Amino acid sequence: MATNTKTDAVAPAVPGTASNFLRDKIVEDLKTKKYGDAVIQTRFPPEPNGYLHIGHAKAICLDFGLADEFAGRTNLRFDDTNPEKEEQEYVDSIMADVRWLGFEWDGLYYASDYFDQLYEWAIKLIKDGKAYVDDLTADEIREYRGTLTESGRESPYRNRTVEENLDLFTRMAKGEFPDGSRVLRAKIDMASPNMNMRDPVMYRILHASHHRTGDKWCIYPMYDYAHGQSDSIERVTHSMCTLEFTDHQPLYRWYIEQLGIFPSQQIEFDRLNLTYTLLSKRRLLQLVNEGHVRGWDDPRMPTICGIRRRGYTPEAIRNFVWAVGVSRTNGIVDLAMLEHFVREDLNKRAPRAMAVLRPLKVVIDNYPEGQVEELDAINNPEDPSAGTRKVPFSRELYIEQDDFREVPPPKYFRLSPGREVRLRYAYIVKCTNVVKDEKTGEVVEVHITYDPETRSGSASANRKVKSTIHWVSAAHAVNAEVRLYDTLFSKEDPSQVEAGKDFTSNLNPNSLEMVSDAKLEPSLASAVPGSRCQFERLGYFCVDPDSVAGKSVFNRTVALKDTWAKIVSKAGS
Ligand code: ATP
Ligand code: MG
Repeated sequence: MATNTKTDAVAPAVPGTASNFLRDKIVEDLKTKKYGDAVIQTRFPPEPNGYLHIGHAKAICLDFGLADEFAGRTNLRFDDTNPEKEEQEYVDSIMADVRWLGFEWDGLYYASDYFDQLYEWAIKLIKDGKAYVDDLTADEIREYRGTLTESGRESPYRNRTVEENLDLFTRMAKGEFPDGSRVLRAKIDMASPNMNMRDPVMYRILHASHHRTGDKWCIYPMYDYAHGQSDSIERVTHSMCTLEFTDHQPLYRWYIEQLGIFPSQQIEFDRLNLTYTLLSKRRLLQLVNEGHVRGWDDPRMPTICGIRRRGYTPEAIRNFVWAVGVSRTNGIVDLAMLEHFVREDLNKRAPRAMAVLRPLKVVIDNYPEGQVEELDAINNPEDPSAGTRKVPFSRELYIEQDDFREVPPPKYFRLSPGREVRLRYAYIVKCTNVVKDEKTGEVVEVHITYDPETRSGSASANRKVKSTIHWVSAAHAVNAEVRLYDTLFSKEDPSQVEAGKDFTSNLNPNSLEMVSDAKLEPSLASAVPGSRCQFERLGYFCVDPDSVAGKSVFNRTVALKDTWAKIVSKAGS
């Protein structure tokens, strides 16, 4: 069987074929009817304290994708239990990003929707003798908790009567006590080998306004107390989360068992990590706040809005996530693999165009002055239905400075004095002489002659030359700014920092290169922000919203060279 090594070499990009232990678990639970005839219910539970990043895209694809695969349902639930860090701006961006990735939630909920229910359940646990109000300070609680090798000590307040606990907890809720003066704790086991089970805090006092509940509450539930119960209320069957919650699973189950409520189950998978990238909202927020990037949607950011602005497609991200798959240990994925998937997707659908980033003027001495030919150019060789367009050709052109060398190095087959190349879609040309700047000696204009018999597509066009270069007609060129990107960090693992420094010391000073004077073929004059194309030989580009009439701005999404396909084919051979 003939195989296309480029795509077959990487894991299958279709959700239905890659092996995946989360899917296996769902299949098994359906077979054993673990939840009777209930449909598969998942949820995506972001905390609205920042913008989503590509790591969240993995969780989103798993939560929504696996539920879809089994005709199940997925809720979007905002885990808004930290009033101080959460904002409506983040809620709105998260919803926009989930939709852009191609998913739609069945139910939209907020953990804060359940504050009343959670409070009632806390009262129940107090009445059952399973929760108590503790007056130790945060520092004392930490100290009493013990260590991994040393068991904890019981708080002197642990054996308060139910009545006293009820009285104190209701007064905590009424706002009678200052922040940090008391907490409600679950009464589990101070000697448990699992630190999370050593009487975890359920509620803390926080006189803070909440973005949805306003000033109604001055006590807020902790993540562990809110999460499982919220899952249970929504009858979530498969609560998928990242590995750092593995040690929290016994606590997740403990609350559900004590309360006798719907038995949601938590299943963990590995976090996505990418080379040269940091995936942490806290750190990304720092980059924004300190002005290292232009905002959450800076095209160098690994946020969904950043890579969207950069020109990534949702399909590319989804294919990437499915190809990465899931594991039970954290690893790090090569950034080149993500780039491979956007290249593969854009190759199929991005229309081609010619653009010159660093222009060098070329004059065809034997081409009639004032003549313009409209040459046929193929919009996408991968997609015949994309058709052709006309590109104007005339006596004066721009080519890339890089495509000319006065003194060509060995193996350089592009234009140089006496050498022939083909101009894409046009003619074979030969360099006759150059004009130099008197002061700097720099070549400022290249003179060539063309062979009229060699027009592309004509019967006599079959003479071969070693190189084909792109060009833009000078009289018809459209000016543009082009932004070229390199990795945001220069270290493969940017979280590794030298003593005394922070991660921003690993930022790549050359992550953005501005090209202010690019020349584009005229068909690009009306490109609208968000539209994508391939500049032949240069990469895939996307029109930036900074574009204004008369000056478009393009972001390079990715260059053409696929380093990932190479890595994979080497590994396979
Ligand atoms: P961050 O550390 O960036 O703030 P988080 O885990 O605190 O991330 P949440 O908003 O709590 O972010 O996450 C929502 C969901 O996304 C959780 O289920 C979480 O496990 C998942 N998630 C977050 N980061 C990643 C990642 N890098 N890879 C896979 N899933 C992730
Ligand atoms: Mg978090």
